[in-house]
Amino acid sequence: MMNKKEQSERATKTKRCLIFSMVVALFLCLDCSKPQSSASARLKVAATIFPLYDIIRNVVGDKIEVIEILPPGASPHTFDLRPQQVLQLRGARIVFRIGHGLDDWTDAIVEVLPDVKRVVVDKGVRLIEAGAEEHGVSEEEGHGHEAHRHAGVNPHYWLSISNGKIVARNVAEEIIRLDPSNESYYRANMKAYESKLDAAKQEIDGLLRNLPNKKIITFHDAWPYYAEEFGLEIVGSFEPFPGKQPTPRYLAELQKKIQENNVKALFSEPQLSSETIVALANDMGLKLYVLDPEGGSEGRESYIELLKHNAEIIAEALSDGK
Ligand SMILES: [Zn+2]
Repeated sequence: MMNKKEQSERATKTKRCLIFSMVVALFLCLDCSKPQSSASARLKVAATIFPLYDIIRNVVGDKIEVIEILPPGASPHTFDLRPQQVLQLRGARIVFRIGHGLDDWTDAIVEVLPDVKRVVVDKGVRLIEAGAEEHGVSEEEGHGHEAHRHAGVNPHYWLSISNGKIVARNVAEEIIRLDPSNESYYRANMKAYESKLDAAKQEIDGLLRNLPNKKIITFHDAWPYYAEEFGLEIVGSFEPFPGKQPTPRYLAELQKKIQENNVKALFSEPQLSSETIVALANDMGLKLYVLDPEGGSEGRESYIELLKHNAEIIAEALSDGK
């Protein structure tokens, strides 16, 4: 006899098998209805999340097609890959990803398209641990344990311009290996993009450097790289870990931190929303702003715009505080 857990695991496996058989069937269909792609077809690569997609676009210009896998408005923490999206990736040579648990859903791509190379773009990035302090759960370790066991590294390293530059360089190296005949073109793009990133970093520095209060509470633990680069202090986050609603005990701790640190504003996020944070802000008479770690929507249509947009929001929120 199977126990409940085994039954449900088996059901999940069966479902996955079915889905991917369907995908394979679709591939076969396409194979017989479409002629083989011509030799002049552009190379194709993919990126898991929008900021990475935009960085790659800046490096490859018009020489390579770039596909964005995560749809705008979705959170990588709660996303599941659909068969149609795997189909779209047919012919892609590389899937660039963040790694560290953020986009493990790319595992399913390799099952169907074993020739796609998956590349994590963190080489040379100084990674920050997903620590209990940053979550604001130090006194609640018993509850946070399970999450932190998988957490290890905080994967949101793209939310720092210095890291964006490292990511762009890692992408460029990989792209040059893929298409060495256009090396000088990619290097020139890279150089131009680096200057834009440097200018953006200065601009953000200017917005955030002289704020009277630099203490923030974010929605989920996405901002330690941003905070470190621009001198902000994260005193807690609303979610104990991405996609997990806070317990009443966790909320009580958070309220204490808000009072102790004289925090004046809270930040929610467009991808992971919650009614509870609205209630918390109302109860405590705090203003509620929205920070966006992913971008790809209006006003945040590039990686640089995304980082600047967040800086403007933080500057507005914190200059209100005394
Ligand atoms: Zn996140």
